[in-house]
Amino acid sequence: MTRKNTTRFGRETMRKSTLSAAFLATTMLAQPGFADEHLRIVEEPLELTVHFHWPRNQGYEEDYPVEQAAREMTGIHLKDATAGRNTPDHNEAMNLLLAQGDLPDIVGGNRIKDPVNQYGPEGAFLPLGDLIAEHAPNIQAVLDAKPELRDAMASWDGNIYYVPYLPDGEFGRAWFVRQDWLDALGLERPDNVEELYQVLVAFRDQDPNGNGQKDEVPIFLRHWEELIRFVTLWDGRSTGSDTYHDFYVDNGEVKHPYATEGYREGIKNIAKWYEEGLIDPEVFTRGTSAREYLLSENLGGITHDWFASTAGYNESLQEKVPGFDFAPMLPPESISGKRIEEHRRTPLKPDGWAISYANENPVETIKYFDFWFTEEGRRLSNFGVEGEHYELVDGEPVFTDAVLTADQPVNSQMWEIGAGIPRGYYMDYAYELQWTSDAAREGIELYEQNDLLIDQFLGVSLNEEEQAVYDRYWPSIQTYMLERQQAWILGTGDIEADWDEYMSQLDKRGLSDVLEVMNSAYERQYDS
Ligand code: CA
Repeated sequence: MTRKNTTRFGRETMRKSTLSAAFLATTMLAQPGFADEHLRIVEEPLELTVHFHWPRNQGYEEDYPVEQAAREMTGIHLKDATAGRNTPDHNEAMNLLLAQGDLPDIVGGNRIKDPVNQYGPEGAFLPLGDLIAEHAPNIQAVLDAKPELRDAMASWDGNIYYVPYLPDGEFGRAWFVRQDWLDALGLERPDNVEELYQVLVAFRDQDPNGNGQKDEVPIFLRHWEELIRFVTLWDGRSTGSDTYHDFYVDNGEVKHPYATEGYREGIKNIAKWYEEGLIDPEVFTRGTSAREYLLSENLGGITHDWFASTAGYNESLQEKVPGFDFAPMLPPESISGKRIEEHRRTPLKPDGWAISYANENPVETIKYFDFWFTEEGRRLSNFGVEGEHYELVDGEPVFTDAVLTADQPVNSQMWEIGAGIPRGYYMDYAYELQWTSDAAREGIELYEQNDLLIDQFLGVSLNEEEQAVYDRYWPSIQTYMLERQQAWILGTGDIEADWDEYMSQLDKRGLSDVLEVMNSAYERQYDS
């Protein structure tokens, strides 16, 4: 990697002076933007280049209204320098960026945690701990309030190399049941795994949609991985984080859920339910249209999916399916009487931004990162521009009617203006609550009243040696696990008969070596 050359800096200096005149004119025109002088970081406008690759836009738009407002408030202008704008694959984009050598000032976007924690210790990115302590009081305050985040963000050398996107709110997915079907059959809401089974059988056999045909699909899922989540009903686990098939932590030890007894029992029973026609026969192939199709055709009975978007069907399907009532329900108790909701919003995303070794203005940059954690910056990153996308009502931001009543969902409107994008920022759950239906809000309250959440595995940063072990064994172990899992559920294998051979295959393929490096990394990272 090479340092920036002076030619480039000469050119930038010229551009800066041209910009400052235009900038001053805008600032003076824009009351009350002018009043936000306390957020100004630099006297003269400063341009910083940014790599910003993310799923919905492989780059950073300089004309985002949110970027324009941030410029006015801070004096710092981000200039897009994203590598791999023509590939949707963030890994490929990151590889292109690293291969080009001359890194932009800021590297940000989707899933940057692993690469910055891998290349930070090699010198590609600046360690941020001291910079934050000295110049970023708002980020520091969040880290002080949530010390577990610092552990989870850190690289194997103990330094932190990125400022993350921090989600807000706790619950994400929930169990939903057709309350109108239960009512039609005179059934109670199922509260444990046995009652759930009885309800599913009734949905299959007793024509709750009333069309005279045995066409109901008792369990359906938009993401087939959610079917594996059902192992929690038999005290198994499907993942430890908001990534499917992930490791989990059990009493301080990193384990893999697909090598445990609860999983074996769970898959055995899911296979039985599948064979009995209680689960969508097309669960592995139907894809993300499953929810829309099976609800609007009045065919689907029970699912596990996001609160807000799933409850939203109660409004949109009222005309097409009269009496439609898809109600959030508590997770049924497991065979041992445990009631858990395995899915939750992660408190820490692997998204955000980092400062590259080539950045000549690290102090200004960390102050800029801190801006997004101030009251004004946090509002800007969640709600867009005051007066345009939201108004302050009694000191609280409230979306304008135009935003709330548009055909497009609020989150995708925000992405288009540069709000809610994976920069380092702190989500404000109030942003989502404003467009969450009453049915979903009631469901969230129901979940909050019960102690359903379990601890999350927030990942480990592997050193070079550990990474080599992981890379050598893990991909083929996971492929094998998923292959067997699907075969057992579809009935082309018998988990009871195959289990010993399965466990010995995992051993032969290096699972114990992988668990060993995961645990050594985990102890280093979280035992401080
Ligand atoms: Ca029917």
